[in-house]
Amino acid sequence: MNAFYDASRYFRTRRTKAQLFATRQHVNVSAAAFHGPGRPKHAVIDSSLFSTTMPDRKIVIIGGGIIGSTTAYYLTRHPRFVDSAVSVTLLEASSQGVAQGASGKAGGLVAKWAYPKEIVGVSFDEHVKLAKEHGGSERWGWRFVETGSWEGRGEPASGSAPATHTREKSLEKTLGLSGAAARKQKGLPDDLLWVKEHLTDSYSPMAPTGATAQVHPYLFTTSMLDLAKEKGLQLKIGCTATEILKSGDKVTGVEYTDANGSGTIPATDVIISAGAWSPNILPSLPIVGTRAHSIVIRTPPTQAIAPYVLFTEITGLGRGVNTPEIYARPDGTVYACGPGDDSPLPANVDDVVVESAACDVLLRNVSAISDELREGVVEKRQACFLPVVSVGGGPIIGQASPGLYIATGHTCWGISNAPGTAKAMSELVLDGKVRCANLKSLQPSRFL
Ligand SMILES: Cc1cc2nc3c(=O)[nH]c(=O)nc-3n(C[C@H](O)[C@H](O)[C@H](O)COP(=O)(O)OP(=O)(O)OC[C@H]3O[C@@H](n4cnc5c(N)ncnc54)[C@H](O)[C@@H]3O)c2cc1C
Repeated sequence: MNAFYDASRYFRTRRTKAQLFATRQHVNVSAAAFHGPGRPKHAVIDSSLFSTTMPDRKIVIIGGGIIGSTTAYYLTRHPRFVDSAVSVTLLEASSQGVAQGASGKAGGLVAKWAYPKEIVGVSFDEHVKLAKEHGGSERWGWRFVETGSWEGRGEPASGSAPATHTREKSLEKTLGLSGAAARKQKGLPDDLLWVKEHLTDSYSPMAPTGATAQVHPYLFTTSMLDLAKEKGLQLKIGCTATEILKSGDKVTGVEYTDANGSGTIPATDVIISAGAWSPNILPSLPIVGTRAHSIVIRTPPTQAIAPYVLFTEITGLGRGVNTPEIYARPDGTVYACGPGDDSPLPANVDDVVVESAACDVLLRNVSAISDELREGVVEKRQACFLPVVSVGGGPIIGQASPGLYIATGHTCWGISNAPGTAKAMSELVLDGKVRCANLKSLQPSRFL
């Protein structure tokens, strides 16, 4: 079973709910408390966030990953979004901009076989629509892609590359026939030439053609954000939401910290889409983070890399079975990611630690089955935290209390499921009900 699609691996809870409560007390501060003496002296109302005519709905999105950024896109394109009546503000904790976490460092597979089924169909269709409407192929690397499961042996680096070149030369014309027969027997598609045939035990498609596609997740997320900004989204970077302010049970604002100290943004509606960090704002959310490493390799320009996503099981490299996922991308790079680990979640996405040893193992594994990857240049070594629902299931999508909405816990399918989630959130917040899907089984009351 592949590392990122084996749901059971994600349900290993590293922090229990009780520990979360113990580490940070969440307080629902009333409007009176907000104006009271307990407030830090430098706390200010950010007046730049008011328009001259005060909007009736002041929507604040916490978190600029793919979920928050895509939600901003759908909100600002909703028929009820009229600049003077509705404001949308997105707060992102990273000082480097949006998509610095999992949403910028994921593989980018979009699949009809993703889960949960409630949100998959609408998400896939919306991905197709978004790509058509905004030139997704050029803008965020949208394309349909074949996806398959590859099993075989790895060839250790030392001394193996010259041996491979010699063997390939010796194939010539007559051996081409037996090679084709061998490929067929192993199930290897004719155009999947960037994995070594002689190391392949089997290849089998995981979905029919047209059932899987891909995006470049960083480009998709930043495009959603830019398109939302064109319609009036206000963005605050380096701004960490610390508390939801309430009067009674009604949301009144969001308290935040940034480089200048702290402040408060008035809000009628708050959407928590802070990925693995969501419990920092609402501790009762059963979300934990699982760190995973990935690398991006630029392949030699002379070698065409056919559009495949491979879920591999590689033996022969010393330590059991290695299961990197490998994603060919249209920009001439190949992305690969490895399994999750138990590293604790840092306070801020900018503080995620990248272990070079984990990236080295990934590089060794993928290089061991492909000359194109072995001969490529590693452009990125990175790590990020996957938001996992610790009690199983999820994502959690819906309204938690008056004015407070949750959209998080997308585990390994947040890229695929972002458009459906975001469309549903925009309907819930601006129409009062989700029209595009039935999300009852994902509503917060089932998890909180
Ligand atoms: C290695 C790997 C490969 C993956 N591959 C795929 C794939 O191929 N297909 C797929 O569908 N999914 C994939 N996923 C899953 C996908 O990446 C996630 O489900 C998705 O990115 C989650 O998005 P998010 O917006 O919820 O969270 P994030 O991307 O983590 O974004 C949350 C944002 O909130 C910000 N934030 C946190 N706290 C605060 C705060 N208090 N105030 C303000 N901002 C805050 C963070 O800085 C961050 O930018 C993969 C994940 C991993 C780890």
